[in-house]
This record gives sequence, structure tokens and C-alpha cells, in this order.
Amino acid sequence: MLIGIDDTDSPAGMCTTYLGAVLVRKLEGAGVGVTETRLVRLNPNAPHKTRGNAAVCIRAEGDPETAFSIAEALVDDLADLSCENTNPGLVVAGEAPPPQFYWQAVRDFCTVSEAREVLDEVGALARGWKNCRGLIGATAAIASVLPDRTYELLAYRSADRFGTPRRVERASVFAAEAATWPHTWDSVDRKNRVVVCVPHTPDPVLYGIRGESPTWVKAAGGRIISEGAALAQIWVTNQGTDAHLVPGTIGALLDGRSYGVEATVAERATTGEGGHVEIAVRDDDEILRCMAYEPTKGFRDVVRALVPGDRVVVCGSYKHGSLNLEKIQIRETAEDVRYRPPLCPDCGKRMTSAGREKGYKCRRCGARAAEPEPVVSQRVIGPGWYEVPSTARRHLSKPLVRGEPGLREDEFD
Ligand code: ATP
Repeated sequence: MLIGIDDTDSPAGMCTTYLGAVLVRKLEGAGVGVTETRLVRLNPNAPHKTRGNAAVCIRAEGDPETAFSIAEALVDDLADLSCENTNPGLVVAGEAPPPQFYWQAVRDFCTVSEAREVLDEVGALARGWKNCRGLIGATAAIASVLPDRTYELLAYRSADRFGTPRRVERASVFAAEAATWPHTWDSVDRKNRVVVCVPHTPDPVLYGIRGESPTWVKAAGGRIISEGAALAQIWVTNQGTDAHLVPGTIGALLDGRSYGVEATVAERATTGEGGHVEIAVRDDDEILRCMAYEPTKGFRDVVRALVPGDRVVVCGSYKHGSLNLEKIQIRETAEDVRYRPPLCPDCGKRMTSAGREKGYKCRRCGARAAEPEPVVSQRVIGPGWYEVPSTARRHLSKPLVRGEPGLREDEFD
């Protein structure tokens, strides 16, 4: 059977994966054998997410009614039901619903009634609390398929420490990544010297190590020196797989979806207030504004180094009329040409503009010229993929260390 759970946490605490890890122990204690623990991230633009839009699916062997009542009691006990935005969902099904619902939840938006329809089709046991929104994530979790997968070792704190500062030895996290990269990633951001895998929110997570296999995440976790973890669980996940990205065309992008878009740089980037960088790309006459926000740090220099005519693929979520960049491919570079007033052919002094579309004029001798002088600079960037740093990476974004993104139209099997 498949047990799906979502929406048990609030900004004040809890985490659906923690509840899942506790449930695994309770099920095993009741003689229900757990065969897989799965963590899926859903549409990063879902409006009601608390943090990372996670949902869990536990695959187990045993009596569904027993599993359901154990899980139901645990949600009642642990979910932060006092928070208006916490609306848990619990489902138990003997078979997985069609994966189409999962892809819709990762790439698009779903409703509770759509989830209920899917659950009815497979005769699932289901309970939604309050407005029942968590049934969407819980249903997507049991419908999920992982054509590409990664693993995360999540270590959880003991309950008496929830909300207090975490004690994790910083140097040990850098050492753990150094010893296991590229088989694990995003524990630290080496460039920006930041520990990434230890959250600062009041939830039960002590740290999370992401990697390509259970063996590698365990190897990294074994090197971390920290306060004692009360629980640890290895989850198989869709994190770091780009499951949210589909090919897109400028002019036909839908708000809240995530895309990879082929385009040509239309204008040089500008840096706005707060250090946010904006660049316009185009496809024929259609223009798309792309953003690299301040937290993307050095990635903004890549965007600033683009020049009109560069052929690119821009990847990220389309929200409120702009694409928030997660990574970018430079396919072909154009010549970096800027124009300045020419030197006066008669006296050699640099001319000045004679007005809009009026050419240039020499202030010393009055000579006139029509054309500016092109100045070609050497490019500081070449073809290839470029990504935001680990500190700014979204859960679903595939790190380049895992290979190039494969943009797929549909994967409904
Ligand atoms: P948690 O640890 O509790 O899972 P979270 O940050 O992952 O926290 P949730 O609290 O689960 O976020 O909030 C996300 C809510 O949005 C859930 O109720 C989930 O069912 C719903 N949801 C997820 N994906 C979609 C989607 N594509 N369309 C509509 N609703 C969605």
C-alpha cells in the first residue's frame, strides 16, 4: 500500500517529513513493514506552501485500515492544526493513481476536488483536515513516479530542542562535502562559504544531506559533528531532477509554471535596487523579462556578461510577467560591440552627438559624421551552462554536477 501525507506544518514548526519518519517507526512497531520512504517536491509556485512544498509517500506491506488509523492519530497529534494555513491530508491506497496527477501537481496547479476524483478512482482511504488542501499533495505523493531520482538523509532533532539554535559543527559540514562531492551536493556553498544543509526555521530538521545514493548520503552524514539526532531517515526524492521544467515559448508562458526557454538576448542586463539583475530576451518580436535576484550572488555576473545577440536557454519559474532564473545555457555568443562617437576625420578630436539620429559633430572644427565608431570587447563568458549557487537553489532544480537539464514535454507514464 501507499500512504501519502501532506500539509502538516506551519511557519511555527513541524515538517511533514518528520511526521513521516515518526510514522515509519510506529508502523514498524505495529508489524507493518515499510519498503520505501519517498519525499516529493511539488510546484514551487503553489500559493499555500509553507516552505518547500514537500509531501511524503510511504510504501508499506500490511493492513491498510491499521496503517490509516496509526497515521490519522499521528497527524492529530503532531500537525500544527492551530495554524490557519495547515490543512493536512492523509491517503492510503492499495495501488498508485495514474502519474498524470503527480505531474500536474509538480508543473501546474490542482484542486482538492480533482484529488478526490483521483482517490475515488483507486478506492483510497482518505481524510482531509480543515479545508482539506493537503489531500492534493498527499495524492500527488502516492501518484508520483521518479524517472530520475536523488536521495536525502534527513536528521531530526529531539523534541525538547525544537525552536532552539542548532549545534552543528560548521567545519565538519565542509569536510563532509569535500569528502563526498560530487556524489553529494548542496550541503555547503563553497563559493559563498555558507552551510546550506542546516535550516534556520523552527522545524524539527537538524540537517539534510542530498546525494546520488543512500550510501553516499550516509557517508556524508557520518562525518557531521552535531548535537545528537533523535531520528534519521533516508528519503528517495524528485529533488535535483528538474521535474518542474518543461520547454516553453515566449509569449505562451503561463503564470506559476516553470520552463526552459530558447531565446536571444535582446538588451544588456541592468542592476536595480537591492542588487536584483534584470535582462530582456526575445524570440522574434516577443520579449521576456528574466530576473536574477540578489540571493543568486555571483550568478548575476553571468547575466551581466550577456550581450545582445547571444543565443541562450533560460530556465526558471514564470511569475508576474518575468522568469526567475535558476540556470542558463549560453549556446552561442555574439560579438560584444558597443558604439561611441567617432574621431573627427579633420582634427582628430572625439566628436559628440549632434542629437537623436542626427549623427555626430566636431565641437572644435564643426565637421560632421554619420556613423559611430564600433568598439569590440573580448567576451568574458563562453558557451555552457551556468547555475545559481547552492544557497539559492530550489529543491527541484537539477544541479549541473548531476548533468545537463533534460527538458521533457510530458512524462505521464
Ligand atoms: P509541509 O512540510 O507541511 O509539507 P510545505 O512547505 O511542503 O510544508 P505545505 O504546508 O504542504 O507546504 O503547503 C502546500 C499546500 O499546497 C498543501 O496543502 C498541498 O496539498 C498544496 N499543493 C501542493 N502542490 C499544489 C499544486 N500544484 N496545486 C495546488 N495546491 C498544491
